[in-house]
Amino acid sequence: MIGITEKLAQTQRFVDETAAHFDRNPADIRVLAVGKRHGVDRLHEAYAAGQRDFAENFVTEAIEKINALRDCEDICWHFIGRLQSNKTRIVAEHFDWVHTIDRNRIAQRLNDQRPHHAAPLNVCVQVNIDGAASKAGVAPDAALSLCQFIDDLPRLRLRGLMCMPDAKPTESEQRAVFRATAELRDHLALQRRATLDTLSMGMSADMAAAVAEGATMLRIGTAIFGVRPTESTT
Ligand SMILES: *Cc1c(COP(=O)(O)O)cnc(C)c1O
Repeated sequence: MIGITEKLAQTQRFVDETAAHFDRNPADIRVLAVGKRHGVDRLHEAYAAGQRDFAENFVTEAIEKINALRDCEDICWHFIGRLQSNKTRIVAEHFDWVHTIDRNRIAQRLNDQRPHHAAPLNVCVQVNIDGAASKAGVAPDAALSLCQFIDDLPRLRLRGLMCMPDAKPTESEQRAVFRATAELRDHLALQRRATLDTLSMGMSADMAAAVAEGATMLRIGTAIFGVRPTESTT
């Protein structure tokens, strides 16, 4: 069995090669290690191998890991799960990024609860770009009004869009959905007259397609940590 250090290196090599193939600068693409359901030891192993961006889905599980790794001060923590109103405070206090903003109320609460000593919270609007069965994210035609709402919140910094489409069987179908997300990002930037520098899209199974279409943050779990243990720890 190959270890996390080697899998991280393999993933980075794949991203570098894919970026080169599509005439992109690999430095513009960050790999986020998605640690959901994996123990803190495995995250620590990834940290020791040089990984600095970590992403988590479940608030309670994430806070345990953030506390356990508090000596690793240069970790950038990304929240990528569904966010309920009663969990916004703890997320506003502990994370650097939230990728899954899907309604005004969540944005408002994160803004109000972001501690004053901390930098503004980086956020992405999650779009349900392909009408995915999970229904997470705003409909594309509702994205502009949510972006404009966030633009008026001083403690949030709107960085771009996140999407998590249903699995698609072919690379060309994967690319079509990611291309639509990139085009929506361009449209929103134009409407708001302000750039959006982030496209959070692509997971283990579709990272090549995401890189091809302009992803700047890949959220990678399985390819780095292996198959997840099945029990959920929400
Ligand atoms: C679990 C998860 C990922 C990573 O998925 P893999 O297929 O294991 O790479 C990425 N994004 C979100 C939102 C997730 O929940």
